Amino acid sequence: MADLDSIVAEIARDMQMITERGHVADYIPPLACVDPAKFGIAIIDAGGTAHVAGDADEAFSIQSLSKVFGLTLALTLEGSELWSRVRQEPSGSAFNSIVQLESEHGIPRNPFINAGAIVISDILVSRLGRLGARQALLDFALSQSGAPEGLHIDENMARQERDTGFRNAALANYMRTFGNIRNPIEDTLDLYFHQCALTMSCRQLAEIGCYLMTGGVDLRSGRMITSVPDARTTMALMMMCGHYDGSGAFAIRVGLPGKSGVGGGIMAIAPGLASVAVWSPGLNSQGNSLLGTLALERLVQRTGWSVFNPFPLSVQTIP
Ligand code: GLU
Repeated sequence: MADLDSIVAEIARDMQMITERGHVADYIPPLACVDPAKFGIAIIDAGGTAHVAGDADEAFSIQSLSKVFGLTLALTLEGSELWSRVRQEPSGSAFNSIVQLESEHGIPRNPFINAGAIVISDILVSRLGRLGARQALLDFALSQSGAPEGLHIDENMARQERDTGFRNAALANYMRTFGNIRNPIEDTLDLYFHQCALTMSCRQLAEIGCYLMTGGVDLRSGRMITSVPDARTTMALMMMCGHYDGSGAFAIRVGLPGKSGVGGGIMAIAPGLASVAVWSPGLNSQGNSLLGTLALERLVQRTGWSVFNPFPLSVQTIP
């Protein structure tokens, strides 16, 4: 029976052979410079052991993956009140779409599209202030990352996104007209852009995701990070909305709650079994990592980890 170390090594080897890697995001200038040949994968299993391959220790911009951590922090501070300002439904639209906001009175469909994440940032600014919220997110990531070396907020990335983020500014301004942004737009966006500029490796990202694998508990200390219902809600939203209008295809191909970012990262959770992070900067037409999705599909074929698998979940191999 193949073990997780050989499975990730084999996946990384296979991914290196593939030449069609999608297109790196270029609407945020520093992302356009990332080498599309990069590929990393990291798994933290339920016992806390890491299984890594490829560029798993190279830091990259996690972008929208950070929306999961922003939501966790906001749920802790605001509780279920939060759901009056952002809904829990798939959008079926692009990550930065504005179209539904008019007919739905400025209430975004879910916290993982840009509009929803901007509302979450606004809630965090109200609770903790612009700089306090930024620090709280960074502290959360640092404290859960296992080894925090290299994990940081890339100021240049945040600045360049602010300078080019006209659509995010439009979303925020538009929601403000409905009263769903309550702080100065620049404060809310400042937090949103800094959150998106969190930079870390696949190994660190998979370590951070462990609190979802365990249903809310810090795997290392046993401390509650979030409640069981909030962890379950977050993973349900990841399954339904974590890949924007590619969420259905991801659920079918991979079958795990996952969240993607335009930096090419994907975090996926096999509840009770593993926290997984992959990174390959080239994106498909929905803005999700092309090879990252393929790698997760291969992983699930090899392990049987899809939550839709009718058989007992354990490491299985396909002969
Ligand atoms: N910072 C990016 C934006 O707001 C995040 C998008 C993503 O990663 O999907 O456009």
